[in-house]
Amino acid sequence: MRTYLVAGNWKMNGSLAANAELLAGVQAGRADAAGVELLVCPPAPYLASVAAATADHDIALGAQNVSEHASGAFTGEMAAPMLREVGCAYALVGHSERRTLYGETDAQVAAKFEAAVAGGLVPVLCVGETLEQREAGNTEAVVSAQLAAVIDRVGADGFGDAVVAYEPVWAIGTGKTATPEQAQDVHAFLRASLAKVDEALAMRTRIVYGGSMKAANAGELLAQTDIDGGLIGGASLKAEAFLAIATHARDAAGA
Ligand code: PEP
Repeated sequence: MRTYLVAGNWKMNGSLAANAELLAGVQAGRADAAGVELLVCPPAPYLASVAAATADHDIALGAQNVSEHASGAFTGEMAAPMLREVGCAYALVGHSERRTLYGETDAQVAAKFEAAVAGGLVPVLCVGETLEQREAGNTEAVVSAQLAAVIDRVGADGFGDAVVAYEPVWAIGTGKTATPEQAQDVHAFLRASLAKVDEALAMRTRIVYGGSMKAANAGELLAQTDIDGGLIGGASLKAEAFLAIATHARDAAGA
């Protein structure tokens, strides 16, 4: 039985005051999502203060990025052991904004994944196709190559308890969501791809959906067999919206 994961990617949003208000709201409703793992990924400058605020509230902390290096002359980068030391349990790896805006390649994403695991973090590996790639019928080829780059580097053993996030690029921040059937098809494909490597890996790996998930569509998405949670951008910035998704996950887990 895989525990549902509902993760908030705050991207480059927030302030000390706004974060405190958001976290207070999430903590106040935490009990409504009992049994669901909650994760927040604030901007790096706020990791330590969010760690302090979430420590006693059963809310995990993650970074939005991690270096492929463990230490050294890499100005502006954040190493996995450092993130771990300030309280992170997770790190997003290969978010489409990192791939598109900062030129991260599949090979670099795989190196970051490996460094995250080596530094004691659980990677959330983001994969997904652009609209052009979907319309050309290349969705499976794209996500397959993104996943294979990591598996080829770390193997089934090195994959550990990593999470895979299927995030169609055309659905991120656009208000367009994959239909439950479209999402389920890709999630099932990803799980089958993991099963070809190792059956137990496929069974234990949580594959979460991301792309304009909100209260209104979360119920149907989270009810799909191979959707084990959500990676949420915009709707994670409002406690009520984030909790509403988490409550749908609780209901899906109980169904
Ligand atoms: C994301 O940034 O991972 C994301 C899914 O964003 P949004 O929910 O805003 O589409």
